[in-house]
Amino acid sequence: MIGAGGVATVAAFKIVKNIDIFGKLMIASRRKEKCDKLVDAIHAKGYNIDIKTAQVDADDIEQLKALFSDFKPHLVINLALPYQDLTIMEACLACKCNYLDTANYEPKDEAHFEYSWQWAYKDKFEKAGLTAILGCGFDPGVSQVFTAYAAKHYFDEIHYLDIVDCNAGNHHKAFATNFNPEINIREITQKGLYYENGKWIETAPLSIHQDITYPNIGPRDSYLMHHEELESLVKNFPSIKRARFWMTFGKQYLNYLDVIQNIGMSRIDEVVFEAPLADGTGKTERVKIVPLQFLKAVLPNPQDLGENYDGETSIGCRIRGVKNGKEQTYYIYNNCKHQDAYNETGMQGVSYTTGVPAMIGAMMFVKGIWSKPGVWNLEDFDPDPFMEQLNKQGLPWCEEFGKDLEV
Ligand code: NDP
Repeated sequence: MIGAGGVATVAAFKIVKNIDIFGKLMIASRRKEKCDKLVDAIHAKGYNIDIKTAQVDADDIEQLKALFSDFKPHLVINLALPYQDLTIMEACLACKCNYLDTANYEPKDEAHFEYSWQWAYKDKFEKAGLTAILGCGFDPGVSQVFTAYAAKHYFDEIHYLDIVDCNAGNHHKAFATNFNPEINIREITQKGLYYENGKWIETAPLSIHQDITYPNIGPRDSYLMHHEELESLVKNFPSIKRARFWMTFGKQYLNYLDVIQNIGMSRIDEVVFEAPLADGTGKTERVKIVPLQFLKAVLPNPQDLGENYDGETSIGCRIRGVKNGKEQTYYIYNNCKHQDAYNETGMQGVSYTTGVPAMIGAMMFVKGIWSKPGVWNLEDFDPDPFMEQLNKQGLPWCEEFGKDLEV
């Protein structure tokens, strides 16, 4: 596993709970001490399992190759950042390792979300006889498994798909992001995008919103955003006429976001900064910094939010289509309580809802159920065994049929 952040922590706990299936685990990240701390946290919860740790800069293919040649992993679970997807995939090809991640590749200097870069590896993985599983978190991830499950069992054709993602939790901080702040703010400040009648329609960032009612939570203002899984879903389910993604944001969060953008702190280009020298002389030097990376350094670490986080998340798919010539509506979702996630893993619900599916995807691969040479999105696989594991591994799901869906 590469990365030792919030998502990786949850995945590590869950792998350890299923260690009989996984065999051996190594955790490697930019800073080895963070991996060691994670192993200590696992041991402190009573899991006395030998876990290797290592330092690796996943931007550096040679370092990755040296690590993979040494440990010889059957599967590399990439829970670092989207910037590292391609270097890790390259190293996997060179060392004959299979691959899984939770977010599509993004170049550092351009917040751009699409699968083309990773899909371009399809032939290479196929020829090498290796499997690459893309986007195995909750959304992307479970959202696609839910859609595939609906298509397999309840619809002849899916026509309308709305992925609805609500975080009704409260971490009691003025402003914090629930996963890596740099990645999160890049994503939210992008233009909205949805698919309708064969075309992609672009909208101004967070300009379309409406109340959506979430189970056990109630109505929450939900904003239309671009989300990467829409790209593969409309390709894999060509009967879809419209596909959209909605996410809730509170007023306070949006006010802060507005300020961050207006004062230039969400910029991802380099600016020159007069930084003090480390020698304590008070002299300065001109260095280049990226404002958004600096902001990340001063914002709360998403890994530290869990303790005081209350409330729950609710993420699901609302689907309309036809079965046996009749219109059918279907809603499938999971609700996850932040405190339950924290008690089990020390992390909040957003890390939990991402780390658990990453482990389940890895389990599907290791068991040989989701193993086929090539580069795949989750709806390319049989959803049933994954759905069964969601219920067993802490993310149980609920279904509603025939209701009048709001979106
Ligand atoms: P964090 O920032 O908490 O963790 C990222 C980890 O990767 C950190 O341990 C970090 O090291 C490490 N890392 C960063 N750069 C490198 C590098 N060059 N080499 C090696 N290790 C590196 O992020 P999260 O855990 O919140 O998110 C992890 C991934 O999950 C992200 O890709 C995110 O986009 C994705 N995600 C997906 C979701 C989904 O539903 N599909 C939802 C939420 C997140 P250090 O600690 O030293 O900085």
